[in-house]
Amino acid sequence: MSGSRVLVAGASIAGPALAHWLRRRGAEVTVVERAPRLRPGGQAVDARGVTKEVIRRMGLESAVRAACTGTAGAHTVDADGNVVETFRAEDNAGDGFIADIEILRGDLSQVLYDDTRNGVEYFFGDQIAGLAQDADGVDVRLESGERRRFDLVVGADGLHSSLRAMAFGPRERFLRHLGLVLAFYSVPNEFGLDRWLLEYQEPESGRAAALRPIRDATRAMAMFTFPAAGFDVDYRDVEGQKRLLRAQLAGLGWLAPRILEHLDDTPDFYLDQVAQVAMERWSDGRVGLIGDAAFSSSPMSGQGTGLALVGAYLLAGELAAAEWEPAAGFARYETRMRPFVEANQEIGRLHARMRAGAEPHEEPDMAALTALVERALNGIELPEYAGVPDSARL
Ligand SMILES: Cc1cc2nc3c(=O)[nH]c(=O)nc-3n(C[C@H](O)[C@H](O)[C@H](O)COP(=O)(O)OP(=O)(O)OC[C@H]3O[C@@H](n4cnc5c(N)ncnc54)[C@H](O)[C@@H]3O)c2cc1C
Repeated sequence: MSGSRVLVAGASIAGPALAHWLRRRGAEVTVVERAPRLRPGGQAVDARGVTKEVIRRMGLESAVRAACTGTAGAHTVDADGNVVETFRAEDNAGDGFIADIEILRGDLSQVLYDDTRNGVEYFFGDQIAGLAQDADGVDVRLESGERRRFDLVVGADGLHSSLRAMAFGPRERFLRHLGLVLAFYSVPNEFGLDRWLLEYQEPESGRAAALRPIRDATRAMAMFTFPAAGFDVDYRDVEGQKRLLRAQLAGLGWLAPRILEHLDDTPDFYLDQVAQVAMERWSDGRVGLIGDAAFSSSPMSGQGTGLALVGAYLLAGELAAAEWEPAAGFARYETRMRPFVEANQEIGRLHARMRAGAEPHEEPDMAALTALVERALNGIELPEYAGVPDSARL
């Protein structure tokens, strides 16, 4: 087979990144996104280790760097704003807590979309309503009524993936809650924030508030986390989420009350339970998953975007190397990705436990921790796929 027609659900990070690589490998790509337009907002996401190499191979290093937040580092502060600890962007050769490639999720999504919009068909404000696969292809019905047949369908539709529910089972079966809720939204920068992120953690409760500089210096990104074991947030009810946030953060000190005053006038509110996705398989026949839909490591790993970008490179490469034969292509992608995903999920769980204060602090085994971080940043090979078509090489 010389190419393939692929439908991708979701146009955030994993979807457009996969579209980039599938197109370069010779596929015809359609992306369907439920939101009416590219969704703005979200916290800054970091590119570390091997993810930087994927961005370089995409030819997007300068576009990504131009859209970076330019954060110099982070100060943790006490309730009065006194600095307790400092982390710098240049720590760990740029791969530290604040990475030197740090970009708002919405800005990265825009870079990836701009890069692919001319060779990829995008449908916004639509989604897959039903699909049926047979030995040769997948018949898809979109909610708008459009019917099409594809060779492959890939879900890049995030933590609450509808495609996963359709093809693999209900989300409760795959979601692993880590006992925390996380919220982000932008606020006017009335706090005199410069290039440093400020974070306050209330020791006794595990609640935290932070302010992060963004490229638009007139605004800042606010972040809150609070422990919340055992309840489920309705991820579509934004007003309910705001009420929940106010109730859970009542009495939190530092700048929290002033930040909360902007809850009703923010253009880009995001709140979700901190959760991971654990699945035994990421594909079934001609239907596969990528990004948070398949293997969310949670924002606590700081690597969800990295996994999405690396996964996109490998999935397109392996499918093309297998001449678009789904069983072989999906299986090799999964074999390569799994250990990398597992290391990042382990980091996500460790970080969430530390934040939620769920366990007494034990002395960490520093050698084991260093080895785990190294596996999470660089523990995956990126094949060159020298014998596989690449339109950028022509
Ligand atoms: C608005 C937003 C804000 C976020 N903020 C943060 C953050 O602050 N910190 C953080 O660590 N992570 C955040 N995330 C998640 C982060 O983007 C992912 O962890 C990571 O980048 C992997 O991305 P993904 O493309 O796999 O999934 P996601 O980024 O979750 O994207 C999924 C995409 O699929 C779309 N979609 C959902 N259902 C359907 C459907 N049925 N059909 C078609 N499209 C569908 C969504 O609208 C979205 O565009 C955010 C995601 C979104 C969408």
